[in-house]
Amino acid sequence: MPTFTTDEDLKAAQLEGLKWTVNHVWNGSDFYRERLQAAGVKPEDIQTLDDIRRLPFIDAYDLREQYPFPLLSVPVEDLVRVHASSGTTGKRKVMCYTRKDLDDYRKMFARVWELAGCTRADRIQNPNGYGLWTAGSGFQAGIEEFGALCIPTGPGQVDLQLELLVDFKTTVYCSTASMALLLGEKVAEVGIVGQLSLKKLVMGSELHSRAMDERIAGLLKLDPNEIYDIPGMTEMYGPGTGLDCHYHTGIHYSADYFIIEFLNPKTLEPVPEGEPGEMVVTSLKKEGSPLVRYRTHDLCRAIPGRCPCGRVLPRHDKIMGRTDDMIIFKATNIYPGQIQAVLGKFEHVGSEYNIILDRREGKDSMTILVEREPEADPAADETVAKAIVRQTKADVMVTPSVQIVDYGTLARSERKSKRVFDNRQDWQ
Ligand code: ZN
Repeated sequence: MPTFTTDEDLKAAQLEGLKWTVNHVWNGSDFYRERLQAAGVKPEDIQTLDDIRRLPFIDAYDLREQYPFPLLSVPVEDLVRVHASSGTTGKRKVMCYTRKDLDDYRKMFARVWELAGCTRADRIQNPNGYGLWTAGSGFQAGIEEFGALCIPTGPGQVDLQLELLVDFKTTVYCSTASMALLLGEKVAEVGIVGQLSLKKLVMGSELHSRAMDERIAGLLKLDPNEIYDIPGMTEMYGPGTGLDCHYHTGIHYSADYFIIEFLNPKTLEPVPEGEPGEMVVTSLKKEGSPLVRYRTHDLCRAIPGRCPCGRVLPRHDKIMGRTDDMIIFKATNIYPGQIQAVLGKFEHVGSEYNIILDRREGKDSMTILVEREPEADPAADETVAKAIVRQTKADVMVTPSVQIVDYGTLARSERKSKRVFDNRQDWQ
């Protein structure tokens, strides 16, 4: 686990990795070489970290086009494994791994446990799926590399999860927030919380609010500060690219494995530091399927400054949604995920909301409709609505009007709910 004591050390490692990657893809991949040639860039043009901006972009489209071995930059016989994400449309996104890639992934993932404050004495239950999806084997390799005990249960089977949690005195459980909630409810139902040795949860893959964390912590009798957030994307080896530390000021990511740019999705220019933009990822060590400016279409922001823990590894926020959902309102770029993040700060309201944009006499307005939680008191609506307006102004720089409606009022659909209703005639 190389650790960096100064920003200069980290930047030097990044530059070395960037130069290596551009050379590697130039020599190993016809696809990448043609792209670089079309952009007028040669490997020797990469002299500083800023030169990354001379490189062309790739997108999920390129991965699907090149199925089953996209971005392949080594001979196929050098590969030892493939993983794939479960794509909802078209072909799966496959990533190829050489022996060194798996070794790098394991070392990167080992860091996660150090960030969570674990020791080799920890017993970590891994209910993630094994198979094409990277999570099960990724977690297992990272735990073993760190030297803690891995309890590989695979997903589902809540009764088995509980049995092993008790018998093996599991101290860390890693799952999605909804699985952790299910587990917490079951533990409460069976009444075995006193028999657990659980200290920490490492949760990933979906947006979960602070209120949900506290609910899970309450059910499992955990310190809410011992709930950690793990990001994961198959294209970036899989989960384990980083974790928030005990201060929970953002996710420390492995910046010696990846350069992450935050770009305006329209202009593809960097956003001001700390503002939300599209995460664009360049890998620094990957041999099998290297990424050069891969557009994730995920919305996120860099967290400026240094974490109180003193680590040099930089931080990014939780993923705030998809950039494809961007709204332009009064010349400001807004993403539904930002509004959702504001609403998540209020226990009085739930996760169902609509954003309505209107234009009257040339003036644009935004109305947020959000459902009251079933047990919340309607008498508090007005006060909470005012607080949401203030919070939205502070966090998103727009002033909406906010209406709190009864639970169950807003339409839900099985697929992704439609949340934005733009009634402006000639918007943009
Ligand atoms: Zn920190």
